[in-house]
Order: sequence, then structure tokens, then C-alpha cells
Amino acid sequence: MSDLSKQVIKRFPEQGDMQLVSLRAVTKFECSHCQTTKHAKVLAVVSGDWNRLLCNGCYEKTLTENGGNSPRTRIPAVLRATFPVITLLRVDTKGEL
Ligand SMILES: [Zn+2]
Repeated sequence: MSDLSKQVIKRFPEQGDMQLVSLRAVTKFECSHCQTTKHAKVLAVVSGDWNRLLCNGCYEKTLTENGGNSPRTRIPAVLRATFPVITLLRVDTKGEL
């Protein structure tokens, strides 16, 4: 399982104790949250532990649920509750807030 860490080609900014990473190729892994075997290039690592992986869906779900604890606290809670995570990231990048 730890061999996966050698496949990382891109690391995204950490969100709390989760870090989204992009792998070189589509890889099979088990999501520790929904307990489902996934095939994806993008997944999240929890606390740098490659035995605790999240699929993209669980990552975004966790981000939304734990919004108050993430570094994105400068985004008002009402916006976090209204827009999907992807939209928030885009707004964040453009610095419109
Ligand atoms: Zn999952």
C-alpha cells in the first residue's frame, strides 16, 4: 500500500489532516471511509498515513462536514453551506472574498 506514495505526481494544499494527491496513473485503493475499492488518480491521504486513504467523494464530504476546522475559515460559513467545495476553491483562488 505504501508504494502508492511513490506514484504521487502532485500534492494539493493540506486541508486539516487530509491531503489530496494526484497519482501518475489510475490506481486501485480502498477508501477507509466508505470501505469501497476505488480506481482513481486522485485520492486523499489522512495524517500522512497511506493506510488511511479517502476517495474523492469522501474527501469532499469530510471537508464540507469539517468546514469550521479547515484552513478555509476565512470563507463565511453561509457560503460553505451553499456552494460545492469545488466552487469554493475556485472563488478562493481568484481572491474575490
Ligand atoms: Zn470513500
